Amino acid sequence: GRLVGADADGEDSAVEAALRPKDLAEFVGQPKVREQLDLMLRAARARGAAADHVLLSGAPGLGKTTLSMIIAAEMGAPIRITSGPAIQHAGDLASILSSLQEGEVLFLDEIHRMSRPAEEMLYMAMEDFRVDVIVGKGPGATAIPLELPPFTLVGATTRAGLLPPPLRDRFGFTAHMEFYEPGELEQVVHRSARLLDVTTDRDGAVEIAGRSRGTPRIANRLLRRVRDYAQVRADGRITREIAARALEVYEVDQRGLDRLDRAVLSALLKLFGGGPVGLSTLAVAVGEERETVEEVAEPFLVREGLLARTPRGRVATPAAWAHLGLAAPQNAPG
Ligand code: ADP
Repeated sequence: GRLVGADADGEDSAVEAALRPKDLAEFVGQPKVREQLDLMLRAARARGAAADHVLLSGAPGLGKTTLSMIIAAEMGAPIRITSGPAIQHAGDLASILSSLQEGEVLFLDEIHRMSRPAEEMLYMAMEDFRVDVIVGKGPGATAIPLELPPFTLVGATTRAGLLPPPLRDRFGFTAHMEFYEPGELEQVVHRSARLLDVTTDRDGAVEIAGRSRGTPRIANRLLRRVRDYAQVRADGRITREIAARALEVYEVDQRGLDRLDRAVLSALLKLFGGGPVGLSTLAVAVGEERETVEEVAEPFLVREGLLARTPRGRVATPAAWAHLGLAAPQNAPG
């Protein structure tokens, strides 16, 4: 996988279980979401009821799965984890829903990728704690209503706007997760280093945090690579210099750009004078697929204010020239 990619890879899955905060107090950052959830969960607990359904939106790696587990833990409830793409047929959903225990948390990742019939079944389940199970086929098919115990649905999506409004409206609580501030990522790094039993000084954590693209999952992954380096090439302790040298080996620069990101930026500046240039032309210049440039490299470059998408093509910003240590030409756009 890509070292600075935000989606989980195999190694992440194995280690993440150990690094996940177990309760709201341990969850770093997102102060608004934490406070709102805390109030909601306390109130539900006091009423002895299942918590309202929760929708979490935000980029991969920002802690949506972690928060769903925390919700279950804070409610003292079991949790079931599944995802939209895993639910092909309404029947798949019916069998999950009908096996839920009272108060159970159902985490539905990528909820926007559920099939239409499953989505419609979910409306009724969320609102009335009831599903219609269809028995038989064709004209003889009958719908058998089935009561469900009260449960809490936690849905996760990269963007709340991707959800059909009727689904969105059935959540009692919606939280948008933001990218993390450097100081918050520094706390994540310190916390994970403690759990992994590695020593890092403050500057070492700052260095890793600064290259983590606002994303705890990436911070944890970079920490593991820096730990390897510290162990093999030094005395095991992480300092600023060790972190910087390790991440140089892995080609992740001070701002968290990797080789692909820099190749795109560098072609835009050196071959096309900073643009505007069309996406396809830019992709050919770096020897990548159009989709790779557009979906893998560009979102972060845009977020960092290094590249802009304009109607006339891709354009570098003054910050892009500065980042690659190049002088912007007099007539540079942007
Ligand atoms: P998502 O479901 O949004 O893709 P996850 O909940 O799987 O993200 O989080 C990815 C990793 O990042 C987990 O291992 C978790 O330990 C860590 N993480 C996420 N958010 C936080 C946080 N607020 N504090 C500490 N660690 C976090």
